[in-house]
Amino acid sequence: MKRFKHYDARTVDEAISLLKEFDGKAKVIAGGTDIIGMFKDEVFAERPEALINIKTIPDMDYIREEDNMLKIGPLALLEDIAHNTLITDKYTALAEAARYTASPHIREMGTIGGNICQHCRCWYYRSPNNRFNCIRKGGKDCYAEEGENRYHSIFGNVKDCLAVNPSDTAPALIVLEAKVKTSKRVIEMADFYQTEDPMKFSVLDADEIVVEIQIPGPSEKAKSKFEKFAIRKSIDFPIVNCASLVECEGNTVKKAKVCLNAVFANPYAAKKAEEYVEGKSLDEATVDTAVNLALQDAKALSRNEYKIEISKSLIKKTLLACK
Ligand SMILES: Cc1cc2nc3c(=O)[nH]c(=O)nc-3n(C[C@H](O)[C@H](O)[C@H](O)COP(=O)(O)OP(=O)(O)OC[C@H]3O[C@@H](n4cnc5c(N)ncnc54)[C@H](O)[C@@H]3O)c2cc1C
Repeated sequence: MKRFKHYDARTVDEAISLLKEFDGKAKVIAGGTDIIGMFKDEVFAERPEALINIKTIPDMDYIREEDNMLKIGPLALLEDIAHNTLITDKYTALAEAARYTASPHIREMGTIGGNICQHCRCWYYRSPNNRFNCIRKGGKDCYAEEGENRYHSIFGNVKDCLAVNPSDTAPALIVLEAKVKTSKRVIEMADFYQTEDPMKFSVLDADEIVVEIQIPGPSEKAKSKFEKFAIRKSIDFPIVNCASLVECEGNTVKKAKVCLNAVFANPYAAKKAEEYVEGKSLDEATVDTAVNLALQDAKALSRNEYKIEISKSLIKKTLLACK
């Protein structure tokens, strides 16, 4: 690994002023489970000059409910989120998503902030020693288009890049209508990712960090569920994951939220499925039609058609579990 500077920030302001000082050439480190590997493998097109450690900022790992809103510090560990009874009871999809992320060791180090800010998973992008000058590194080609694309997007590209967002917690946060508070602003989780700049993995500026995740208390009638398909159950990124939230009045669906991930550059809200089930009873026939509508716009690459069936099955499982 090449040399870089390392700073322990003591406050959010200090972290921000260091990020400003390095003018885009410093990166934030929280648990380090993702970014250390990227440094070791020399994945960045332009090697960062410094790491700004935010783990040294006190009181950023809280999980608490205030005024019927769940507030989670960006340094809250995935393992703590997975087992927090408030979250397992009321914000179930988030607890399940955290529980199925990576392995126990990584969940004991990995934070929720790092989980939503992690870079895309694509073996061309992540290939050691920056071997492929792909679109995410300022190049012109997506090597997955004609290459090995079994884990890539089924909903098209972003500026020609076919890599997917691998976060397990992001779709759960989206269906729970979370907001992300940053050092500059408050952003709807549904708007946290973007499609304009393939060199960026969220809307965050280079001198901006996540400082809190806020989730409004769901209605007592709402249920949420997360499911994940991965090759290895004990530790693996999602091939596809899905979170759903349904609120019923009697047998009728009043509100439905469905979000897939690992199928596109950003988490993919299945709007057509949501709209179809609203106002209907959540029976199997309704859900079958909804899943077909949700995947209507999917367009498989040469090696990933299987992801369409998996997506359908996960939407069905999560919706029916919310009955
Ligand atoms: C073997 C392995 C398996 C994994 N499996 C999964 C999986 O199944 N599902 C999954 O979702 N992830 C998985 N991960 C990815 C990752 O480790 C976890 O998502 C973890 O939550 C990242 O958190 P961290 O605190 O370690 O992030 P770090 O590695 O510290 O940072 C990750 C990224 O987020 C940025 N960042 C961190 N905190 C902030 C903040 N507060 N504000 C702004 N930017 C920030 C960093 O700059 C960096 O770009 C896996 C990783 C490994 C190594």
